[in-house]
Amino acid sequence: MKGCWSGLFRKIPAFIPLIYRNRVITRIPEVSRKLYFTFDDGPHPEVTPRVLDILEKYHTKATFFVLGKNVEKYPDIFQKIKHQGHSTGNHTYSHLNGWKTPDEEYYHDIELCNQLVPTPIFRPPYGRLKLRQAHYLSTQYQIILWTLLSLDFIENLNPEDVLKKLMNESFRGGEIIVFHDSVKASPRLLYALPRFVEFILEKGFTFEPLSREL
Ligand SMILES: [Zn+2]
Repeated sequence: MKGCWSGLFRKIPAFIPLIYRNRVITRIPEVSRKLYFTFDDGPHPEVTPRVLDILEKYHTKATFFVLGKNVEKYPDIFQKIKHQGHSTGNHTYSHLNGWKTPDEEYYHDIELCNQLVPTPIFRPPYGRLKLRQAHYLSTQYQIILWTLLSLDFIENLNPEDVLKKLMNESFRGGEIIVFHDSVKASPRLLYALPRFVEFILEKGFTFEPLSREL
C-alpha cells in the first residue's frame, strides 16, 4: 500500500512517545471536549480551498502541516489558510522520510520549509523519525504525531467507511486527528469531513488549532 502514513499505526500506542523519550506529542493532555484536526501535505489549489470552506461553514479552526514546496507553488492558498485563523506547521519542504534520509539533508529540508513557514510545530512525513532526529528537532520544534488517522488516504476505502470508522471512536478531548488536503485523499476527505464535524459539534465538542495550546 502506498500512502503518506502507510504501514503505521492508525492509533498511536502509548509506548511510542516513551520510545522517543517524550519528545513527540500524540495528544494534548488535560483537555476536555476539544479536538485538534490536522491536514497534511497541502496546500493544494483545489482541495485546500474546499477544506477551508467546510471549516469556515462550521466556524472551526484547524492546523495545516504544509510542505514547503507546495507553499512555494501556491502562496495565495497558504495565505488564505492563515487569514482564516488556522495554525500552520512544518511538514518538511519535500516530504522526506526521516528513516531513509541522512540527518543533515533532513534538517536542511525542514529548514527550507521553516524559511517559508515559520512555526513552532513540526510533523515528520510518514511519522518516521529517528530517535536522534527527534532529539535534535525537539530543541526547535514541538514534534506532533497523532492520536488517530482518519485513513482518508487509503484509496480502496469507501468514503462512507472512513466516516463510519471516525464516528465509531470515542473521544474525550485532546485527540489529534490526521486528514490530508491532497488529491488522493479528497474523495474520502470531502465526504467525511463535513459529516464528522457536524457529528462532533453535536456532541458538544469544539475544535482548536494546535499552536494555541503549545
Ligand atoms: Zn505527509
